[in-house]
Amino acid sequence: FSSAELTQFYLDRIQKYDGEIAAYNFVNENVLTQAKAVDERRAKGEALPAYAGIPMALKDLIIQKDMPATCSSRILEGFVPPFQGTAAQLLEDAGFLCLGKLSMDEFAMGSSNETAYYKKTKNPWDTTRVPGGSSGGSAAAVAAGLTTFALGSDTGGSIRQPASLCGITGMKPTYGRVSRFGLIAFASSLDQIGPMTATIQDNAAVLSVIGKYDKKDSTSLDVAQEDYTKYLTGDVKGMKIGVPREYFAEGITAEVRECVNNAIKAYEAMGCEIVDISMPHTEYAVATYYIIATAEASSNLGRYDGIRFGYRAEADSLKDMFYETRSQGFGDEVKRRIMLGTYVLSAGYYDAYYIKAQKVRTLIKQDFVDAFEKVDAIICPTSPTTAFKAGEKMSDPLQMYLSDINTISLNLYGGCGLSMPCGFGSDGMPIGVQLLGKYFDEGRLYNLAYAFE
Ligand code: GLN
Repeated sequence: FSSAELTQFYLDRIQKYDGEIAAYNFVNENVLTQAKAVDERRAKGEALPAYAGIPMALKDLIIQKDMPATCSSRILEGFVPPFQGTAAQLLEDAGFLCLGKLSMDEFAMGSSNETAYYKKTKNPWDTTRVPGGSSGGSAAAVAAGLTTFALGSDTGGSIRQPASLCGITGMKPTYGRVSRFGLIAFASSLDQIGPMTATIQDNAAVLSVIGKYDKKDSTSLDVAQEDYTKYLTGDVKGMKIGVPREYFAEGITAEVRECVNNAIKAYEAMGCEIVDISMPHTEYAVATYYIIATAEASSNLGRYDGIRFGYRAEADSLKDMFYETRSQGFGDEVKRRIMLGTYVLSAGYYDAYYIKAQKVRTLIKQDFVDAFEKVDAIICPTSPTTAFKAGEKMSDPLQMYLSDINTISLNLYGGCGLSMPCGFGSDGMPIGVQLLGKYFDEGRLYNLAYAFE
């Protein structure tokens, strides 16, 4: 089929189902014209890039030139970036077309997509449930067939947790693998863009395109670009997989545990060696993350002052304008994070909270370094439960923060991690299993996932 037919297929599905799913913040009305142009060039026999004319979609904090980038926040209402982000540019160079921008928790702060100002995305498997977050729009769009694949971002699990809750595959690459130039910052030392796809092959193919060193991001690492599809042999014999007991602790439901244990047995049957390991500082990960992430966020979000981007409130003085813009522009969760972050960075508390958290981060990192001396990869549940009901955790932020318990340590370490489907709960909702790897070991994770799929 032609690019126009493929694009029309997704546009029709968006038209038909997105009213209910609410995944798209913005649909690109020029995409069909762009697809037709690709078909014409193909008909003329022009040489085209590998993925010419294939539509995809982006989480609404990844900058695509000339399309709105709202971060699902009122404060970015009307903001259209005048420049191109690196991930979007690399996809464009490979021939992909952008269908639109996908809903998310406001500024990627949340685990259910319910902090979004514009659209609270629903889980396509059961629309009374959340899709997870913060890349909930991306996960739901892939699961509902409203795009071929999507890019998300992961600061503390925001690719892996929604992938798990929507029954798709999501990869958080190693910190520094994908350029953050054009990724609107939440917590700069943790944020990373990654692919969210229906299959492992797709995931490996997309990361092969966007995983490239970029001079425009000082934290991008100068390592060679790889073709990750080359790793997909299915041969995993002799690989050592660690099972960290702390990741199976209380809060993980019996069915999630059972499902992940079945995946572990499947790896054993394929000839992997399963090793019991301990990562003793795991219990401090949630607290450490919520100090470091909020500290960085309070600084990053200082730039939204009503002057340079998006929304501006009417007021009589400059000071009132700043105040009103931020009061009206940010939602409750974002304000909570800014207050927490400002507090932990303030004089008198800085050493007690921020510096202490940085020290604990080093200990958590060391847990991973020690583990990877014994094993090649780590396996554990992605999320403690299946997708919960909309509204269930919104009044209790601590409960919401605990849904990240198995995902956030990896961001503090900086390695790579993938979530893939491994079964269903008694509620009919998907369950995900997580594979964690050392720095730049995405190829191994893809092969392990491929062997299981
Ligand atoms: N749910 C976590 C938070 O709210 C993680 C978010 C993310 O990875 N962007 O901070």
